[in-house]
Amino acid sequence: MRAGAAHRADESDAGETPEGVGGELFCELARMVVALAEVQGLRSFALPYPGIAQRALDRTVMHCLDAGETPPRSLPELWEWCRTKPAGDPLFAVPASLVAPGVTLVHPIGRMPTRSCLEVASYGPGGGPAAHACALLGDLEARCGGDDRYRQCRRFLARHPVVHQRDRFGLGWSRAVWSRVKGLYGPLPEFLLVDGDFLCCPSCNLPALPRGVTVPVPGSSATDADIWCEGEECPRDAPLELIREPDQAWILRSALRTFLALPHRTEEDARDALDRAGIDHEALSGPLSAYRLKDTGSEIVDIQVHDRLQSALLAIHLADSAPRADLTFVVVPDALAGRDGYRKAFTDALPALLRDRLVLTTPVNLVPDLGRARRQENDDA
Ligand SMILES: [Zn+2]
Repeated sequence: MRAGAAHRADESDAGETPEGVGGELFCELARMVVALAEVQGLRSFALPYPGIAQRALDRTVMHCLDAGETPPRSLPELWEWCRTKPAGDPLFAVPASLVAPGVTLVHPIGRMPTRSCLEVASYGPGGGPAAHACALLGDLEARCGGDDRYRQCRRFLARHPVVHQRDRFGLGWSRAVWSRVKGLYGPLPEFLLVDGDFLCCPSCNLPALPRGVTVPVPGSSATDADIWCEGEECPRDAPLELIREPDQAWILRSALRTFLALPHRTEEDARDALDRAGIDHEALSGPLSAYRLKDTGSEIVDIQVHDRLQSALLAIHLADSAPRADLTFVVVPDALAGRDGYRKAFTDALPALLRDRLVLTTPVNLVPDLGRARRQENDDA
């Protein structure tokens, strides 16, 4: 696994060995899982395998032989491996300070790439799906030729990861917006259909599947714990939405679902909190969910919004992208920031020089944290 600039910069992390062969293999498998899920879902593994899969399989076999383990014999077996062998398995030995040890690349219920898989795949060379989402938004911004138009299109994408032909007559679907964004949607893939229908999570608006779609469990009926949605973390207090006539529907590209639509609720909550407190801000140009506060004197204060499960990988990504502001508030969902170890992993993965400049916060804590930072600045002045 590649060590980010942030990681290398901090001597206190010298004991970690993220460059380990197992860690690199884990990253390669993450990229393979993302690539295969994108093109064909996870059910058809006919020979000859796609190049990326054959290379990952060969490398896994070599690694297993070196380690004295029984290797997977086929792509379906390798897939099952990715569903059951977590990051902390001795074969991968990914440091717990980088990726939570229980993380698997394929979701045990949905049998689709996990969110963590997309985050790990974004950690390697080229920036993976997260960079792909940024590139797609960058192209859209260039096509829009105006900030207001771009913001309108971006909001449409974030709020409508799945659109249906009949919605075209509803509110908020302007022809001008649709003509600019429709290339970012595609038909609903067959592997996301259940008995010819498409299921959507009412909370994250992303695809959902009950357990047993690919491997039916006789006599079982789906309970809350048996449902997967792409957001993974959603409450199950409302039934899934059923979208009939899926041939009349389109779905947003996977990278944009995860890295634009998913953080959008947090972004709206953060903006509402600023508005309620009367804190003036403007959206920064570019693909990120980023804002700059106004009236901050000589200090530049930015806000970035992210929804990432692996906080250490988020910290490394932020450090690698060299924040321009004096102070950046990194807003993540409240439920994530409260998790055991989430804040510590974020802070530990930052180089010491950035620890005072990148402040992890949540929509609820954003305004109080801003106030605290201002008081601190006044005390220092
Ligand atoms: Zn959901």
